[in-house]
Formats: sequence, structure tokens, C-alpha cells
Amino acid sequence: MSRNILVTGGAGYIGSHTVLQLLLGGYKAVVVDNLDNSSETSINRVRELAGKHGSNLIFHQMDLRDKPALEKLFASQTFDAVIHFAGLKAVGEKVMAAHGCKKLVFSSSATVYGWPKVVPCTEEFPICAMNPYGQTKLFIEEMCRDIYKSDSEWKIILLRYFNPVGAHSSGYIGEDPRGIPNNLMPFVQQVAVGRRPELTVFGTDYGTKDGTGVRDYIHVVDLADGHIAALSKLSDPSIGCEVYNLGTGKGTSVLEMVAAFEKASGKEIPIVKAGRRPGDAEIVYASTEKAERELNWKAKYGIDEMCQDQWNWASKNPYGYGSPEPTK
Ligand code: UDP
Repeated sequence: MSRNILVTGGAGYIGSHTVLQLLLGGYKAVVVDNLDNSSETSINRVRELAGKHGSNLIFHQMDLRDKPALEKLFASQTFDAVIHFAGLKAVGEKVMAAHGCKKLVFSSSATVYGWPKVVPCTEEFPICAMNPYGQTKLFIEEMCRDIYKSDSEWKIILLRYFNPVGAHSSGYIGEDPRGIPNNLMPFVQQVAVGRRPELTVFGTDYGTKDGTGVRDYIHVVDLADGHIAALSKLSDPSIGCEVYNLGTGKGTSVLEMVAAFEKASGKEIPIVKAGRRPGDAEIVYASTEKAERELNWKAKYGIDEMCQDQWNWASKNPYGYGSPEPTK
């Protein structure tokens, strides 16, 4: 029987790509999402993209803070593991334990490395919070370590994402942030489709090759595959609570990323240079050794493919899931 995975926040950007890879990998996926920051359209499109596997996807619009609903869901079936993408709140680990499900993959972030003194960042680096978002990641990571300490039957993998960008190559699912995008590539994408006049480059005086911030951009499909690798690792009897970086190990500056996107899209991205954004680090990229060695996973795509796929999604869906249905 195929394994049944509960995916919280599975309608979102990273969640939807991961659910697709799960289905294609022969898993069953039960998605719970309150659709606060996502759209059911992404679920429907994932189902379509999964073809004959589409029927292995079940969606429940539900808030994870609704404990009776969560209880009912766990009582109705057995989950082999939970992948937790949903926003701030931790999934009820007491509900999981009560139903004998003690395998969890949690989305953490490279933001916990703060402003690293050296790069690449290894999983052993000290961690800190530079902002409220980082605080929640730090807090839930600590909680996971405590859960494991108090009950060693738990198997928990914390995945520290670097900078996920791009979209599925179909251009049918992708990132659709509400409001003004905070992150670089969603903003660039909106400039390219004419929704915003220009990109503001935050900081041109960093000690980097061209003065702009350097990050480790990773294709969202590679990131999704990292979750499948983590799920397999949860079956390893030796695993307790482990953390893995999901990055490419390569650093790219803001201007390099903009140039790659201009090349992929054939659009000019006007820029305005501005001061540094408070709380931003100068250079962050991953050491990928641990994930390669222990998860047997390595990112396949480079920034050209990331930008091509991002543009394919953007040009077909200039207003995200609110756009008219694209032709495939
Ligand atoms: N950035 C920028 N303009 C924007 C958004 C981001 O210049 O409108 C820069 C930011 O300063 C950083 C890089 O792009 O150097 C990546 O920022 P993002 O917010 O995407 O990721 P994070 O800083 O969380 O790694």
C-alpha cells in the first residue's frame, strides 16, 4: 500500500510543488490548508498535472488550530508522516503522537543563520533570529529538538531552505504572493509583467562582487524533491532529530539574478539603487555536503532554468492564480 502523507500548507508555493512530486513518486497526499495565503486553484492544477496519480490527492480546507477537526482527520486514517509547511503555528504534535504518527518534516529557513561570519553555511553553525519570521523558525526548530529529547521514538527532519525560486516547468503552478512581494524574484516577476515600474535594489555597497547581496537561489522543484528525500530518510532507524540545508551551494548576487531573468524573459527590468534593507545579510549560501551525503539529494537546476521557469509561470499567469486560465 502506498504511504499516506499529511501535508499542512500544501496549497502554497513550496507545498504545491512538493505535493506534485509526492504524487508522481507514488505517495498519497492529504493536504490541509486554510487558504489564508494560497488558492485552491493550485490544488486543482496539481491534481491535473499528476495525471493518473491525481486521485491520490485529498484536500481539506481546514485551520490547523482547529483541534477537533485535526483529531477527526487523524482518527479517520493513518498517516505515515507529516510534512509541515503551514505558516506560523506548529502542527499539534500531541495529536500526532496520540495517533501514533511520530514522523515529521518541518520547513525551516536559512534565515536562522543570520549574518553568517563565513560561508558556506554548515548545519552546525550557531543559529539566531534577525526578525520575527526567523524567530518563529528558531522557536519551532527548538520545539522539535525538545519533542525528540522527551520521546526518542520521534523522527524529525528540519529542512533549512535557502532561496526558493522558479516554478514547475509546465508554468501551471508557481508563486503567487498576496500584496507587495517582499522577496526578490516575485518582485522581479511583477516588474516583468508590468505590474510594477521598477525593482528597488536594496544595498549596493556590500563586500560582494558587484556590491549587491548574495544568496543561494534554489529551483522550487529541486526543493520539493528534497522533501521526498527527507521522507525516505525518516525510515532510517538511526535518525532522530536532524537538520539539513536545502540549497545549491552557489552564491548569486541581486544584479546577476536580474540579468539572468532579463535573458530568460527578454524583458528589461528597470532598477533603482537604494540603501540596505535592515536585517539583511551580505552573503548567504549553503554547504550542501550533509544533504548530499545523508539524503542522497542534490539540486539539479541552475539560475538560467530557475529564471526560464519563473518567466514561463509569470507570462502565463501575470496575476497569479487570479489570472484567466492559461492554455497548456
Ligand atoms: N532584494 C532587493 N530588492 C527587493 C527584494 C530583495 O534588492 O525588492 C535583495 C535583498 O536585499 C537580498 C536579495 O535580494 O540581497 C534576496 O532577498 P529576499 O528577500 O528574496 O531573500 P532573503 O533576504 O530572505 O534571503
